Amino acid sequence: MTNSNVTADYRARDAAHHIHAFSDMKSLNAEGCRVVVRAEGSWIWDSEGNRILDGMAGLWCVNIGHGRKEIAEAVQRQMGEVSFYNTFFKSTHPPAIALAEKLAEITPPQFNRVFFVGSGSEANDTVIRMARHYWTSLGKPDKTVLIARHNAYHGSTLGGGSLGGMSSIHSQGGLPIPGIHHIAQPYWFGEGGEMSPDEFGLFAARELEKAIDEIGEDRIAAFVAEPIQGAGGVIIPPATYWPEVKRILAEREILLVADEVITGFGRTGNWFGSETFGIEPDLMPIAKGLSSGYLPIGGVMVSDKVADVLYTAGEFHHGFTYSAHPVTAAAALENLRILEDEKLVERVRNDIGPYLQSRWRGLADHPLVGEARMTGLMGALELVPNKASRTQKFADTGKVGTIARDISLGNNLVMRAVRDSLIIAPPLTLSHEEAEILVASARKTLDETQAELKRLGLL
Ligand SMILES: *Cc1c(COP(=O)(O)O)cnc(C)c1O
Repeated sequence: MTNSNVTADYRARDAAHHIHAFSDMKSLNAEGCRVVVRAEGSWIWDSEGNRILDGMAGLWCVNIGHGRKEIAEAVQRQMGEVSFYNTFFKSTHPPAIALAEKLAEITPPQFNRVFFVGSGSEANDTVIRMARHYWTSLGKPDKTVLIARHNAYHGSTLGGGSLGGMSSIHSQGGLPIPGIHHIAQPYWFGEGGEMSPDEFGLFAARELEKAIDEIGEDRIAAFVAEPIQGAGGVIIPPATYWPEVKRILAEREILLVADEVITGFGRTGNWFGSETFGIEPDLMPIAKGLSSGYLPIGGVMVSDKVADVLYTAGEFHHGFTYSAHPVTAAAALENLRILEDEKLVERVRNDIGPYLQSRWRGLADHPLVGEARMTGLMGALELVPNKASRTQKFADTGKVGTIARDISLGNNLVMRAVRDSLIIAPPLTLSHEEAEILVASARKTLDETQAELKRLGLL
């Protein structure tokens, strides 16, 4: 069969039976999706024979790059020892023990315990129940409200989707659940108005203070936030934001939850985004880079402050069949070994991070780019109709972003569109040469997008 016959066959079968995550199936099936048949290092190959640079590391997760044999071997070894056993009934197994111990070592010092789950969504669902259970155990059952932010992403289960601030998710299936309150996000480029970034950072942080004062500290369990919003569009808060949040919470009895599902495991140039921003969370959801996506596993890091209470509060009626699944734990352990042995976190901080950041920021001179930002290896390009004005936006939000995203794929680079921005989060193993290819391809995409927008009369 020719490549196009092979692709047509895959597409027809996929269209017949497979409902994709976050997809409009009717239009997806009309268009036909990309069939990824091989992945290695920073690259994926599709069934048409295209070799494409994976600027999104899968879905923010393949931190060590694709196709590492060591993970496959660790998984196979563990499959031969214990492929599955539960942790409900007074039992454990070596990979769960070793991974919990390793996480206690590499996470910030307040964390010495972990609750394992299967995904980032389950981690955030666990946070909701655990934070409320914590306060009830302290004799404060009225502290149930979780404050989160508009345009945050914390997963798509009932709990995670409710905690997140995506109106598209809230519009389906009866979300959000009660007891979640959303406040402004620290998105200066999009919402900063006439304020300077520093002024806006203080303003956005003080929205938290205002919400606490309105709702009442005695009713609030936790503030939940991503150190950098990922799916919301790589929103890097102004420098004043996190210090002000820290001050506000230091004066009050409210848990801080840092959702590190994306920012964990080296993405921002430290092991955890909390270190990059100098915050000390009480709970920390993790997933994605924990196993570099080789197998699904997540967790909630539980600080000593919270664990000390939970451990005297009897049974926590919560868990999943696959909590601490031995094979996923073995994959995660090997992934952490690779991150450590190959000094990939240091590499993001001192080498490839600064290198790609400076090249990426160079794209800001393009007529279509209003801002080019990046921390560690997560970045965004804000596409605007008029560089001189931050507030002027394209009509029909998302249209231009999607056009640019499709052009980028045609140029063999995966970038993701969020509204009218393009975002990247490549593997931490990205070479300098690949960084050059990425930036050259992004620039070509900007040029072609500009020409296309002119052709369509959108510029
Ligand atoms: C991806 C993500 C989640 C959800 O993780 P899943 O494994 O998809 O359930 C939660 N929080 C953040 C910050 C994420 O990026």
